Amino acid sequence: MRISRITVYHLELPLTHPYWLSGGRLRFDRLDGTFVRIDCDEGLSGWGEGCPWGHTYLPAHGPGTRAALEILAPALLGQDPRALDHINRVMDLQLPGHLYAKSPLDMACWDILGQAAGMPLWQLMGGAEAVAVPVNSSISTGTPEEMIALIETARAKGYRTHSAKLGGKDPAIDIARIEAIGAALLPVEMVTYDINRAWTPGLALQVLNSVETASWVEQPCETMEQCAFVARKVRQPVLLDECLHDFDDHLQAWRAETFAGLKIKPNRVGGLTKARRIRDFALHVGWKMHIEDVGGSALADTAAIHLAASTAEEARMDSWLCHEHLAVDPVPGQGARNVGGAATPPSLPGLGMVPAPSTLGDPVAVYEA
Ligand code: MG
Repeated sequence: MRISRITVYHLELPLTHPYWLSGGRLRFDRLDGTFVRIDCDEGLSGWGEGCPWGHTYLPAHGPGTRAALEILAPALLGQDPRALDHINRVMDLQLPGHLYAKSPLDMACWDILGQAAGMPLWQLMGGAEAVAVPVNSSISTGTPEEMIALIETARAKGYRTHSAKLGGKDPAIDIARIEAIGAALLPVEMVTYDINRAWTPGLALQVLNSVETASWVEQPCETMEQCAFVARKVRQPVLLDECLHDFDDHLQAWRAETFAGLKIKPNRVGGLTKARRIRDFALHVGWKMHIEDVGGSALADTAAIHLAASTAEEARMDSWLCHEHLAVDPVPGQGARNVGGAATPPSLPGLGMVPAPSTLGDPVAVYEA
């Protein structure tokens, strides 16, 4: 089986509401999505999606994905899409780095492998069944009252875990947010405080050593060293997100001997192949992990839910569904959706979903053998 054509689509993905994070430094109104379709000489087709969460969140942006595909896609023509490690070696040789741009191609190859094997991705990745993965809400930065209102809305949709976005220059404001949110939670609910790099280490210590919570704190500062400095001096467990890219970053995080968990986002680390490698490392060292994608439609969300569903429950924390924030749905009704606070991956072969042609528009590039 050989790759005969790669078709690229550019989708604007507007959010239903403006979204703020990192203490209000970063505002998002729409996301820039890239969809790829890989066709094979034997008739199978696979889909992938790459969607950095805007261009201020990570060293990644939508046009960068499509520019990198100009180099990556021709190199994959004629390759066997089922040979995932080989596919990734070809991409890494052709274009070092640029991990986020490789993710949609890797995802589409997994989709084809699953269809060729007649197995859903959760099974190919080691899972025993299509488990319902608990999902967490994502609570945009705001006043305590605004954030509690968002938690109440999420609660009505079945969410019992919330990721509250904090961070700012005034420790009193974040202390007030943490205390108000903690008091508003139901006994069955949990919250993670996601700082998205906004605090300096000193500010992080001021806030975290002034509050009672034992909730998880995510990516408090910009760098891994700064996060490690904080993690050694606070009582809350600290997990990493934005500072993790390649495998060496994860080794460095482990050697710091102070982090308790991480987020695994296929688009940030270069695709499902590399994400699975990191997942297996995290399982071995005993980290807790959220598995979800950086952003995008239910296609990208579902790929991550397949990986999450194949991961041992005791190691897994809740996943987030970006598509619940979107005003459009390129894969209408398909894939892993929130049903009462959990999302179940499809059991069809591969990813188990196909974008609706009417939502994609005309391709922006076609690469053919
Ligand atoms: Mg985060």
